[in-house]
Amino acid sequence: MSASASKIAIVIPVFNEEAVLPELFARLTALFAAQPGCTWSAVLVDDGSRDRSAELIRAQAAQDPRFRLVELSRNFGFQSALSAGLARTGDADAVVTMDADLQDPPEVIPEFVAAWRNGADIVRASRRSRSETGLRRAGFDLFHSLYGKLTDYPIEPNTGTFGLLGRAALEAFNGLPERHRFFPGLRAWIGFKTADVPYDRKQRAAGQPQQSFRRLVRYAMDGLFSFSYLPLRLLSYCGLFVAGAGFAAGVFFAVRRILGIETAATGFTTLVTLILFLGGVQLIGIGVLGEYLGRIYDEVKHRPQYIVKQTLGRD
Ligand code: UDP
Ligand code: MG
Repeated sequence: MSASASKIAIVIPVFNEEAVLPELFARLTALFAAQPGCTWSAVLVDDGSRDRSAELIRAQAAQDPRFRLVELSRNFGFQSALSAGLARTGDADAVVTMDADLQDPPEVIPEFVAAWRNGADIVRASRRSRSETGLRRAGFDLFHSLYGKLTDYPIEPNTGTFGLLGRAALEAFNGLPERHRFFPGLRAWIGFKTADVPYDRKQRAAGQPQQSFRRLVRYAMDGLFSFSYLPLRLLSYCGLFVAGAGFAAGVFFAVRRILGIETAATGFTTLVTLILFLGGVQLIGIGVLGEYLGRIYDEVKHRPQYIVKQTLGRD
């Protein structure tokens, strides 16, 4: 295969993005025209949109066969929609992953392709600047600092989904069996030679963010719990500490009784405090176990990550 004929597929999850789709199509079409050295396609995954997104993609696919539609049966969430698209990129030599809202500017994609042609198997776009502010921004920062400390496969704090996977990396990703997927974490886990391309993260071109804060928190939890045993380990340490302290207190009070220093039954407040404290520690412990157990249950059920209603365009 000559390098000039590389097939590049761009995977884009779409949820209620009718306001940005026309601009997205125009920017991608311009990119395709400016980069004739590649055979381009765009796989738009409609993640159960409740607006006219699917209709707009269908119309675009009808007039330009480089655009394809993968329509899911309902809203499965960004990570699942992304997986659905990545599994449907046909014989692409490399796959670009990006958001529909143009926060990830398509104009950077040629730099990914250049880095990939220079030998990188994975290219990550790395933000020189971020446009989020307030609670979202604070949440992202907290997550990245926690995640970096907890796991053995740290992700670069300034990278997200935007990037490129070469054929081998894509196959490795598609071959992963788990249902709870956290793309940046898994991309770090699969290894391969990785290059970073700096870019400026833009404001959303139109519309509102479609990922609720709750959903982002859930992805953050998935990231933490599926890449770290530290919560469990901390519990064990905590248990050891509390048990040790309890034993020492027991010895202390027994000695006082034996020596006759204290014989009356006192210490009601101490007792209540201890019971509440230990009860709390145990409930936290059960909660942490539950986080792992729930994820194990989901994996064991073997339900698919998403259901495809319809696809449009060649695979
Ligand atoms: N998205 C999706 N399913 C959802 C929510 C969002 O496919 O349930 C898509 C959305 O259309 C966009 C991308 O995921 O292309 C990122 O979403 P958004 O811009 O709302 O998230 P943020 O930029 O705040 O992370
Ligand atoms: Mg966005």
